[in-house]
Amino acid sequence: MCPHCRRQLAWYENIPVLSYLVLRGKCRTCKNPIPKHFIFVELGTALVFVLVAWHSLGSPELVPAVFFRNIIFSILLIVIFVYDWLYQEILPSVVWLGALVGLGFNIYLGYSLLPMLIGLLVAGGFFWLQYAISKGRWLGGGDVRMGFMMGIWLGWPAILLALFLSYVSGAIIGLLLIATGKKQLSSSVPFGTYLATATFVSLLWGKEVISWYMNFLH
Ligand SMILES: [Zn+2]
Repeated sequence: MCPHCRRQLAWYENIPVLSYLVLRGKCRTCKNPIPKHFIFVELGTALVFVLVAWHSLGSPELVPAVFFRNIIFSILLIVIFVYDWLYQEILPSVVWLGALVGLGFNIYLGYSLLPMLIGLLVAGGFFWLQYAISKGRWLGGGDVRMGFMMGIWLGWPAILLALFLSYVSGAIIGLLLIATGKKQLSSSVPFGTYLATATFVSLLWGKEVISWYMNFLH
């Protein structure tokens, strides 16, 4: 429906990207603008799906279950990314669902439980510690739950890369926003958007980045 006049939209007003362009970003009846984030989410989703397909096609052997797992993980990450960006909340139902689905997929794919357990304890424990020390001022309960989910999905040691990328990208983008005057130091950052992005990158390219880093050290 249109968020302004609440009119139910026809199917042809709901075609990703195309409808937005044809309607020129405005509701057909009340002429109010369609919120900009719709087109970004639609284009972003297309890009994410292309990256997942590209990753699967480039793998030494094509495992359909890995492709479907990555598509489902990506959909959940997009929901987490957008919802936290717009409303500063990581939805518990999405994260618990993600943790369960991820556990199921990874067991089905024959991954061992120990790396998942270590990943879960490292990420969840690290976030929980910060949550406990700051009494919820640095991080929210949603971030702690998200840490558990990320640990199950990525396992040890890829979880370390995801944590590293979350903090580095958060720091760089935070500094840029402060430098351009868009945010102040005290503004809270929707950490879930960074966690979701870092999880996506680590999911697709974690192994490559970690082996590159190991070679770099030697
Ligand atoms: Zn309208």
